[in-house]
Amino acid sequence: MCIVEFQKRGLPHAHILIWLSEGAKLRTGSDIDKIISVELSDPTLYPSLSNVVSNFMLHGPCGLANKSSPCMKVRRCKKFFPKDYEDATRIDEDGYPKYERRQTRITISKKWVNLDNIYVMPYNPQLLMRYQTHINVEYCNKSNAIKYLFKYVNKGPDRVSIEISNHGKDTNEDEVVDEIKQYYDYRYLSPCEAVWRIFQFYIHDKWPPIHRLAFHLPNEQSITFRDYERIDRVVERSETLDTMFLAWFEANKKYPAGRNLTYAKFPQMFVYDHDARLWKLRKQGFAIGRLTYIPLGCGEIFYMRLFLTIQKGCTSFNDVKTFHGQLFETFRDACYALGLLADDKEFIDAIKESSKLGSGHQLRRLFATLLFMCTMSIPDLVWNVTWRLLADGILHERRRRLQIPGF
Ligand SMILES: [Zn+2]
Repeated sequence: MCIVEFQKRGLPHAHILIWLSEGAKLRTGSDIDKIISVELSDPTLYPSLSNVVSNFMLHGPCGLANKSSPCMKVRRCKKFFPKDYEDATRIDEDGYPKYERRQTRITISKKWVNLDNIYVMPYNPQLLMRYQTHINVEYCNKSNAIKYLFKYVNKGPDRVSIEISNHGKDTNEDEVVDEIKQYYDYRYLSPCEAVWRIFQFYIHDKWPPIHRLAFHLPNEQSITFRDYERIDRVVERSETLDTMFLAWFEANKKYPAGRNLTYAKFPQMFVYDHDARLWKLRKQGFAIGRLTYIPLGCGEIFYMRLFLTIQKGCTSFNDVKTFHGQLFETFRDACYALGLLADDKEFIDAIKESSKLGSGHQLRRLFATLLFMCTMSIPDLVWNVTWRLLADGILHERRRRLQIPGF
């Protein structure tokens, strides 16, 4: 996925996340070395590469050599430069990469300071040679870091609020405080970004496409209508229309090919036609389906969602509620019978599922809410299974506050 952002002076830059397929994953230090380098190249052997690296990929000088560098915060570089020397690339005990930075005699002089490998930012030589600009390439293989990467690349534009007034200090007493105005949320748009948007250049992109799959309880589908429409006409019209979910039942009656798929897997083989309100066999491409998120505490529909993750080829609501030939009264009963709710399992599952998207802070709030609601029968049990997920981000946050190097 890719997001284009603009810096304050207007230069565009892109954040790009690339997932490698199973066979192409970088598993060892030497695999990483083939893609990423953090060393200065020999200027006699590779003069052009050496030139781009020194122009675009050097950090500093900062630290003791230049205490007034903008990256310095409380006598330390915010980005922890200069780094330590490393004999070979390795993945440390926390799963973060330590790139090979050998102590060599190659240095580059900047602001009268000789910088060597410990000041180089990770780069890919081919990309740098081709594009002749700053391109920072990093390796990440921690599944729980992915949501933070997403948060980082989607952090949104810079915001500023500027007010120009001709009030002097003496006139402030009569000034009316406009609280609504103080809450305005402004967006700063540089001329470069304005042009970028006028020309409709890509601002973000992602692959594969993801379809959000809607579902509902019997007769509880949402309906859109104009405020001037007569309600009986709206009901009459909507009764005969299939929703995406009802169309799934119909598709299962029609196509045997879909009967081995859960609702979430359905978009891999079928495409939903919004106008015709039906699912058609997919002729090309690929897509991932995701069931709409339902918070714990919504009752039956939450349990229905749990059940939809295992049911295949359903042709009616009763079909969704039937398991091994037994038709259950409610989705909650069905989930109980299947052991999906024993020992507070629904709470554990809800926390585990939220941990894939939510930050540690959000998860801790969720756990606190569950405690308040008194819905868990054995909170200690839920805590013992999920505390590692709930503690997510605490170490990172402490490291950041105490300025201890680490990711
Ligand atoms: Zn620095």
